[in-house]
Amino acid sequence: FFEKIKTGLEKTKKQLIEGFNKISFGRKIDESLFEEIETVLLKADVGVSATTEIIDFLRKESKKRGITEGEQLKELLKEKLYDILKDCQSSLKLLGEKPDVILFLGVNGSGKTTTVGKLAWMLKNEGKSVVLAAADTFRAAAIDQLEVWANRVGVRIVKHQPGADPSAVVFDAINSAKSKGDDIVIVDTAGRLHTKEHLMKELQKIKRTIQKFSPNQPVETLLVLDGTLGQNSINQAKVFKEATDVSGIVITKLDGTAKGGAIIPICRDLKIPVKFIGVGEGLEDLQPFDAKMFVYALFD
Ligand code: GDP
Repeated sequence: FFEKIKTGLEKTKKQLIEGFNKISFGRKIDESLFEEIETVLLKADVGVSATTEIIDFLRKESKKRGITEGEQLKELLKEKLYDILKDCQSSLKLLGEKPDVILFLGVNGSGKTTTVGKLAWMLKNEGKSVVLAAADTFRAAAIDQLEVWANRVGVRIVKHQPGADPSAVVFDAINSAKSKGDDIVIVDTAGRLHTKEHLMKELQKIKRTIQKFSPNQPVETLLVLDGTLGQNSINQAKVFKEATDVSGIVITKLDGTAKGGAIIPICRDLKIPVKFIGVGEGLEDLQPFDAKMFVYALFD
């Protein structure tokens, strides 16, 4: 697990560590040291507000603890990063309702379908029976692509013709899961962001359909964000957040970006926990977000 995250975060790690390596921590703390740390954090896309909080903490806390050596300041930095990230951490919630419904949102290309496949694989390996609902009926290719994942993982898929009503697909998928006693339905929705009203209407209809079966569902509404966008994904996420309740975020493609630091402003600004991170294209490249591992992976 740890090794996967470590290699997955290689680019972010490089950005941070090479940045930090250029700073000589083997000196006494002075003003320029804080400024150098600040620059590295900003480059890793940690964002202005989180960076300010971190630097303020380092200044105050080093004074308070009587820390004078750069190396000790580095430890303090790790401590602070973990402290912020642990509030961003939350594990997947399941109620065991047979079926629990997990709704996936995200724009096209964010890695949504891939993440649905990876999560299905993860849950299947935990002994759960999973059904995929191809509710992205807007693009024929999306249905086909989900089917490829269903076959790869070895789970059932419920699909309709392209252009069909997404809610009808969701209804059939839950009905089918119910009658067969399946544990989880994962719904892949269309990632269109035409207008907020349109998105809102479609998601509300899907939600009403799900709630015909149980008022407790969907147990999770997960928004998939493309990690290579860094902080730029925040505005996109806000549109989804205004359209529906989002219970968790998945940040994908962290293996392909040096902007992994954006995980901090993403979760802080949106006030939504990060449930998973994607660190590659393979089945096993989805990891529950673990703040401690994340910080260790970056610094070790
Ligand atoms: P969708 O349009 O949102 O459903 O996106 P897809 O699931 O089709 O993913 C878009 C592209 O991103 C595909 O080429 C995926 O293989 C790739 N992808 C998805 N997740 C990851 C990840 O964690 N790491 C990398 N490197 N690529 C990913």
